Amino acid sequence: MDKICAVVDCQGFTFPDRFIGRELAVVSEYISQCQEIDPQLKWQDLTAEEKSIVLYSTSERHGLHHYPFNSRNFCYLPYSSEMGSIIKLWHEMIATEEKPLFAYKNHQLGKILLDNNIPCLDLDQPEYKFPKYADLQNRFGDNYLCAYHKRRKGTDARLICAYRKAAHIFREVNERVKQMDWN
Ligand SMILES: [Zn+2]
Repeated sequence: MDKICAVVDCQGFTFPDRFIGRELAVVSEYISQCQEIDPQLKWQDLTAEEKSIVLYSTSERHGLHHYPFNSRNFCYLPYSSEMGSIIKLWHEMIATEEKPLFAYKNHQLGKILLDNNIPCLDLDQPEYKFPKYADLQNRFGDNYLCAYHKRRKGTDARLICAYRKAAHIFREVNERVKQMDWN
């Protein structure tokens, strides 16, 4: 765990046959960023099941609409298929020989990290006994969302933001590393 230099997370739409990213975040000691992703979803092309997954994700899971917040006419927005190369770029900037690992707690993101040969650590491996994200959210608070989210009126759905999640996990990792130093 003391070889972790950053935590990465993403949120998006998990369809039965594929995952489509909507935001991608990294938090390290020096750099933190949340990148919006254009999921390129056309409503009329989605199946009934995919539509219900999109609606559920937007209202209950992460709160992100399937249309980009920023317009591609005015700013560069990467596609979901480009998430691996963005993380590679972040890894080149952040990783060191002593701390080469990007940590994650996200099955879908794990596949992207492994596909792109990015040195990483899966915090869901039982040996780490890492807390559930819901427990971290309870402990560290639930009041922050990145600029890409809009909290829906009239619902107290607890939305998951990739940026906040990565920050909470990074905080917990640091506390554990400190404890290891004391012991
Ligand atoms: Zn967010």
